[in-house]
Amino acid sequence: MPAIHGTGVGQGVAQGSVARMADGLAAPDDAPSTRTPDEEKAAVAEAVQAVAAELNARGERAGGSARDVLEAQAMMAEDPTLEETVHAKIDAGATGEYAVHRAFAEFAEQLQALGGYLGERAADLADVAQRVIAHLRGVPAPGVPEPGHPFVLVATDLAPADTALLDLDQVLAVVTTEGGPTSHTAILAREKGIVAVVGTGSAELADGQTVIVDAAQDLVIADPTDEQLREAAERAAARKAAAAAPITPGALADGTPVPLLANLGSADGAAEAVALGAEGVGLFRTEFLFLSSDEAPSVEAQQESYRRMLAAFAGKKVVVRVLDAGADKPLPFLTDAAEENPALGRRGIRALAHRESILRDQLTALARAEAETDADVWVMAPMIATVDETEYFTALAKELGLKTAGVMVEVPSSALLAEEILKTADFASIGTNDLVQYTMAADRLLGSVAHLQSPWHPAALRLIKMVGDGGAANGKPVGVCGEAAADPLLAVVLVGLGVQTLSMSPSALADVRAELKNHTLDDAKRIAQAALRAANADGAKSAARDAA
Ligand code: PEP
Ligand code: MG
Repeated sequence: MPAIHGTGVGQGVAQGSVARMADGLAAPDDAPSTRTPDEEKAAVAEAVQAVAAELNARGERAGGSARDVLEAQAMMAEDPTLEETVHAKIDAGATGEYAVHRAFAEFAEQLQALGGYLGERAADLADVAQRVIAHLRGVPAPGVPEPGHPFVLVATDLAPADTALLDLDQVLAVVTTEGGPTSHTAILAREKGIVAVVGTGSAELADGQTVIVDAAQDLVIADPTDEQLREAAERAAARKAAAAAPITPGALADGTPVPLLANLGSADGAAEAVALGAEGVGLFRTEFLFLSSDEAPSVEAQQESYRRMLAAFAGKKVVVRVLDAGADKPLPFLTDAAEENPALGRRGIRALAHRESILRDQLTALARAEAETDADVWVMAPMIATVDETEYFTALAKELGLKTAGVMVEVPSSALLAEEILKTADFASIGTNDLVQYTMAADRLLGSVAHLQSPWHPAALRLIKMVGDGGAANGKPVGVCGEAAADPLLAVVLVGLGVQTLSMSPSALADVRAELKNHTLDDAKRIAQAALRAANADGAKSAARDAA
């Protein structure tokens, strides 16, 4: 069978037998019941009991926070108000299936209207309804299968609740037919270190079929040969050994240091990042702390959050990004929800300049947190597009007591202007996720344009080179903090283009560290030149592979 192409997440390779996630059930129709109301009620009661027992049993097995989630779901299934509503609908002539479908949907709508924590439970209720209906129909329940042995999970896509509950001892790898490199599944897989290939299109994989999931090569191989299985097992073992190798500072084969930093969204992941060898933080996404806040956070609340993060990195560099609100990360207190095209609207530094008091508060909180700790704080602004914005932001940051102020290069104009921008900014950090989105005019969240979103595209690489050159001309440091830095070979290319530090999800540090050690600075420059000359992303990748 030919290999199935998709987008690999991370550099792992795994093998095992497929267990497919059952697709969602078709909604039951409103045909009148042919059974008596008592028969319908008895069938529903039995299905509800079975589902509650199954959820409780899964909770027992999972333990921890998963148990709480599953026990809460089991309680929902047996909620007496819901039962009354189901009975009333059956008495009015509905089938058990239709009564469950409608009653749960109405209850979910009520929860959604309440918003907040209860609103978020609406999705759980839909999941319970699907389980009960599946039971009534005698078909497998949708959701993560439990074949009773480790397996490769194949799904259309994973809901956040599914991914949160994945049992990492059982799931060897994940393959999804939908989703792009920045989909929820991809982000979670990367965070948890799960081998995954996403966006494969209609993958014809059957339960029990043996596959190799090769994230490094963006491939799934069905029915592999013994030779392919052996080669994959060897690579998996080598990768495990590399991950267990002693952690050394990031450096090329000739000793050129390339500090490897962590991307973090809260202080919670700090200890793990340090354990994995992060030499500091290259991107602290502060907006993640306030995604559900309706009001701008106080200086005091921010100071405390930042202090916690900085305390974990005493003596190290921590690059903090001021709030990047808008488009994929709206903040209710900062984002104009009425914009028709928020990716091109008043987002990032534009939103902060418009509401300067919020920016002033954040910079003040950061300066105070820095004074309380020994971390070396660098601050940067997202979505900088002009020299004027650079001058505005760096002047304000310094006025409020921060000594190192830089910019993110995520908009092509700022790459084109890098030499001028870096006359003012103390440093630049290239956000390749957005830089690729804006260079290629391809929404980073949209699977249908995923083929245009590769940071390997020579158009993006040429812009990155301009930033590297702009840094060299001004003697200012340039880093990368987008997902591109987590791709080991691309990391080498980035260094060859003039990038000096790389920041990534901590789970990617070991692979990048290992790859850098294979190349000198001269090698990296040569590999980068080969990639730059290519006509498209695939060409750049294979040119770099050949040159390496
Ligand atoms: C980027 O755009 O590459 C980046 C690092 O910022 P974010 O992913 O948070 O938009
Ligand atoms: Mg960005």
